[in-house]
Amino acid sequence: MTMLKPSTSLVELHLHEIPRVAMKTAQKLAAAVAANVNAANPRAATIGDLLHHLPMRYEDRSNLTKIGGLKNGEYATIEVEVRVAGTYAVKGGKLRIFECSAVDRTGQIRAIWWNQAYLQKTLTRGTRVLLYGQWKRGRRGFFEIENPDYELLSDEEEQIDPIHRARRVPVYRKLGEIRTKQLRSIMYYVLERLDASSIKELLPADIIARNGLIGRLEAYRQIHFPAEDSPIEMYNQMRSPAHQRLIFEEFFWLVFAVGLRKQGREEAPKGAIIKTGDRVREAVRRVLPFKPTSAQKRVLREIVNDMTGPKPMNRLLQGDVGSGKTIVAIQAAVVAMESGYQAAMMVPTEILAEQHSRNVKRLLSKSPYRVELLMGSLSAAKKRELYEAVSSGEINLLIGTHALIQEGVRFQKLGFVVIDEQHRFGVLQRAELMKRGYNPDVLVMTATPIPRSLAMTVYGDLDVSIIDEMPPGRKPVITKVRSEDARAKIYKFLEQTIQKGRQVYIVYPLVEESEKLDLMAATQMAERLSTEIFPGHRVVLVHGKMKQDEKDRAMEEFRTGSAEIMVATTVIEVGVDVPNANVMVIEHAERFGLSQLHQLRGRVGRGGEQAYCILLAGDKRTSEARERLAIMEETTDGFRIAEKDMEIRGPGEMMGTRQAGLPDFRIGNLVRDQTLLEAAKREADLLIKEKQETHEFSRLVEIVKKQPKYRLASIG
Ligand code: ADP
Ligand code: MG
Repeated sequence: MTMLKPSTSLVELHLHEIPRVAMKTAQKLAAAVAANVNAANPRAATIGDLLHHLPMRYEDRSNLTKIGGLKNGEYATIEVEVRVAGTYAVKGGKLRIFECSAVDRTGQIRAIWWNQAYLQKTLTRGTRVLLYGQWKRGRRGFFEIENPDYELLSDEEEQIDPIHRARRVPVYRKLGEIRTKQLRSIMYYVLERLDASSIKELLPADIIARNGLIGRLEAYRQIHFPAEDSPIEMYNQMRSPAHQRLIFEEFFWLVFAVGLRKQGREEAPKGAIIKTGDRVREAVRRVLPFKPTSAQKRVLREIVNDMTGPKPMNRLLQGDVGSGKTIVAIQAAVVAMESGYQAAMMVPTEILAEQHSRNVKRLLSKSPYRVELLMGSLSAAKKRELYEAVSSGEINLLIGTHALIQEGVRFQKLGFVVIDEQHRFGVLQRAELMKRGYNPDVLVMTATPIPRSLAMTVYGDLDVSIIDEMPPGRKPVITKVRSEDARAKIYKFLEQTIQKGRQVYIVYPLVEESEKLDLMAATQMAERLSTEIFPGHRVVLVHGKMKQDEKDRAMEEFRTGSAEIMVATTVIEVGVDVPNANVMVIEHAERFGLSQLHQLRGRVGRGGEQAYCILLAGDKRTSEARERLAIMEETTDGFRIAEKDMEIRGPGEMMGTRQAGLPDFRIGNLVRDQTLLEAAKREADLLIKEKQETHEFSRLVEIVKKQPKYRLASIG
């Protein structure tokens, strides 16, 4: 028997040597695996990729339930023989049902499948079949099941390939056209031809021992064909030794790569030499329009400590929406400018850039510093003028969007970089901005509270400061979930709010697939509100597709209070600060993620008044949506909301995977496997701290370097 390598392309596999697997299957399999593994960046699928198509569940077929032993509501597999089968139409012929009754020695069951009439060719009288699903006791006392998974049995096949029965078996999700049984044969064949020389152990022996992990080859074998020595439930919960081992390894490479990145940065020589003293302290104090909270004072100290220290700063400033991060960043920028360096502040939207620039210009109006705003929508001539003033050093603080990392931008002496709402940017963009200075101090800020596990991976290379205190006088926003029938009442409430001299936001979701329709809905809504519902008030509309000057005008009207109502898409999610607005209505709230709702809600409650957030949800809310929205009613704690959001939607969705530079884990799950993540992090830290000089260390670094997936983690 020839041994295989995991890197062997699937096309080279002689799959036709497997019983019942035809020649064409290899190609089909290769295509399906490739599409599955890496749709964005196609390459030839390998055996390694195939092995990562993990069972979706496991069945213990050594001990199958008999019909006589079924319990109502139970999920179980039974082995039966088909007696009667047939197809009939229901609902005026719109749906076709295939029904069969089948037996074992202890009883009879009834199974139906919706719209799968082709089954009549397969499940004919006398066929032996395994059925899996949830069993319910039906009308005549028989157990019944709808759309069960099925797997055909034949004695003849059993002779050739005795891996489908009388043992623990993996059940796979269909891969292209290839179904579980065939996949099982293929996996078995492949695993038989892999040995310890092809699936080499990569982790150091002491790490394996300390964490009680099983070997790598063993793990791959068992994850597909469970060993008998741990309960099958552990496999089904992805907690078997095989799962633990592979999850640990997956986390390990990532946190190791992140750790290396952090260390590399700290060793790079720092360009800017920043000093503090009475003069600087006075300059910093002068920009303060209010008394800072003690949390603000503390984080500023942490930041300035980094800036004046020997290593370049890489700090994450976390603070819930409205906690007052901006002023801290500006004070830090002043410290850098006082030492003669330029500062840059990058933000994700033009609206926010504009707002920051207006604030900063006001705060620094008595200082000698020149502050400018750079955005993509400026004229070419204006941009050129700014480029020149930046490279000559005339501009001290440059605020802007992605435009800051365009080709033309060259700083004379960039010493300090702030990235606001970091979660909207990728790791790569952070890297890009850093390159523009000579290893400047970097402060990234985010209001999306980052669950611990994410903080360790995506942001694992950053030191963290937290503002855990709100400016005085803030009352938590009162949040209510309402449905369509409350609309009239809500409008009345908005009217009263406006009568009291306050302003309101009405937010529309913009879902990419239906962006045009949504935009239309928002536009029509603004129209209706201003002509029919609130004819006496001024309504402005803001959305991302508007021209810059239109957006500016609308924002300006709202900020100065000449417009009482702003209808907006989620462009206002980040940063927008109009303290007089204290009611927000969010339409189709069920379409937003929790973190996003939290961000949006953070736009109100910035003045001293009690603020309200009304979540309007469609009537057809699912129970999941209801549960989600209820969390918004219950708490204003951003961390709790983020944890919940991550639990419900997964970290990728929650953070916007690509934007956040979050790798897709193949097996690991940042929510479920937090303990393993922490263990992997401990080991990686230990290696970096104590084992740098060893061979083992260089070997591990080589492995990380070779994996494109972790390259992202090691730059930036
Ligand atoms: P975020 O952390 O969400 O970026 P901002 O920096 O926009 O929050 O601050 C939110 C609001 O709170 C702003 O209007 C800001 O002027 C105000 N603010 C910040 N710090 C204080 C403080 N210590 N006292 C009073 N108001 C403050
Ligand atoms: Mg902000």
